[in-house]
Amino acid sequence: MGGIFGVIRQNDCLNDLFYGTDYLSHLGTKRGGLAVIGKAGFTTRVHFLESSYFRNKLEPNLKDLGGNIGLGAISDTDSQPLTFSAHLGPFSLVTVGNITNADELIAEAGRHRYTFNRSASGKVRPTEIIAMLLSREGSFADGIRAVQAKVKGSCTFMIMTEKGIYGCRDFLGRTPLVLGRKDDGWALSSESSAFYNIGFEPVRDLGPGEAVFVSPEGWESIVPPGGRMQICSFLWVYYGYPSSSYEGINVEACRYRCGAALGAEDDVEADCVCDIPDSGIGHAVGYSNRRHLPYQRPLVKYTPTWPRSFMPQDQAQRELVARMKLIPNQALIRGQRMIFLDDSIVRGTQLKDNIQVLYQHGAKEVHARIACPTLVYPCKFLNFSSSRSALELMGLKAILALEGEEGRNIERYVNAADPKNAELTEWIRERFHLSSLKFQKLDNLVKAIGLPKEKLCTHCWDGSSYGL
Ligand code: SF4
Repeated sequence: MGGIFGVIRQNDCLNDLFYGTDYLSHLGTKRGGLAVIGKAGFTTRVHFLESSYFRNKLEPNLKDLGGNIGLGAISDTDSQPLTFSAHLGPFSLVTVGNITNADELIAEAGRHRYTFNRSASGKVRPTEIIAMLLSREGSFADGIRAVQAKVKGSCTFMIMTEKGIYGCRDFLGRTPLVLGRKDDGWALSSESSAFYNIGFEPVRDLGPGEAVFVSPEGWESIVPPGGRMQICSFLWVYYGYPSSSYEGINVEACRYRCGAALGAEDDVEADCVCDIPDSGIGHAVGYSNRRHLPYQRPLVKYTPTWPRSFMPQDQAQRELVARMKLIPNQALIRGQRMIFLDDSIVRGTQLKDNIQVLYQHGAKEVHARIACPTLVYPCKFLNFSSSRSALELMGLKAILALEGEEGRNIERYVNAADPKNAELTEWIRERFHLSSLKFQKLDNLVKAIGLPKEKLCTHCWDGSSYGL
């Protein structure tokens, strides 16, 4: 996915920019960077994050940076921020999202003799495509409107100029952008949780498609919010940081409600409730409280050296990282009937390994409860599951095995009331050697979030794809 952060103050903003961007590190694992406008003009530093954290990588660069205005990005798609020279003046740009009509936009620009730089992977960076669309217009405001009109999929972005920062949330609000303030300045962030420790207070969420301009003196509206919202439901289930809120709805509190909803429809007998740290924790706490069963931590993350998952390119290496960072606590596992909460099953590799570990260490029963329904439709908006082959999704694999044909009867499998949904669940349960398996119903997930269904993107689970 990715996260972006922008700040402008009357005083130097570097610390706020550095720590604010660092607090978005859970949103991406590939590239991280900062751009500031200081005495030396626009200065940018970008690093690979595949083998180390944003903070470790960027800290040595801080001595080269400084100024009262800056942008930061954690990205899964491209090296950013990027800085451009254009007839509008110099600007830096950060983006988050997935441009599904990128090829069409590149071809169209080619007809106007526009040249793109291709990255080492052979692709044109999404950030370059947005820069092209912006710089073909007569003003940044018109450029923002052009991006909104032409980009399909989703793209939230920020533009830094010498006068201030434009912040623009994607057309349907799939990814958030929050405005914050402190006594001498303003900030914009993908996550409200990035604000608190650097002294900013969240002021408001931008609406879908809304654009604002911030300067040290204040903010003004550039493009008003649109009428239709499709915010990503997965932000609450998995992506979002527990202390963040989107549309006024806190992530951790929502996870408690997800777990409670699973607990309310369950009567399996067990000795304890547990989770895969960290994303399963809130769901497990909610379940445990609802059913008055003790919450325990039989798998503990080795935080001194594995505080987060890096993303090695090699799959075997990724699996090794996932296994090594969790240590089983045999004293809490042996002879136990355990209810095991997780946020979702995407490919299921990690969950399968963890279940095996629990049995190896003497678990008597393992019952898995998953905080969202089976994922069967790859995300086309945020690069969430689409970078992998669709058939790597456990739900689609199950349908292929049960039907002998990819995606056949998919509408029936995603309907919790249809017997085929139970067949799919049973197929996965068997593969994972679970004592029992239950997925959250989509209606209950929507209720736990608390927004009307028509304001949420639920494409992962039901294929509803407004805006494609
Ligand atoms: S498809 Fe899934 S991950 Fe992608 S935006 Fe929609 S809910 Fe979020």
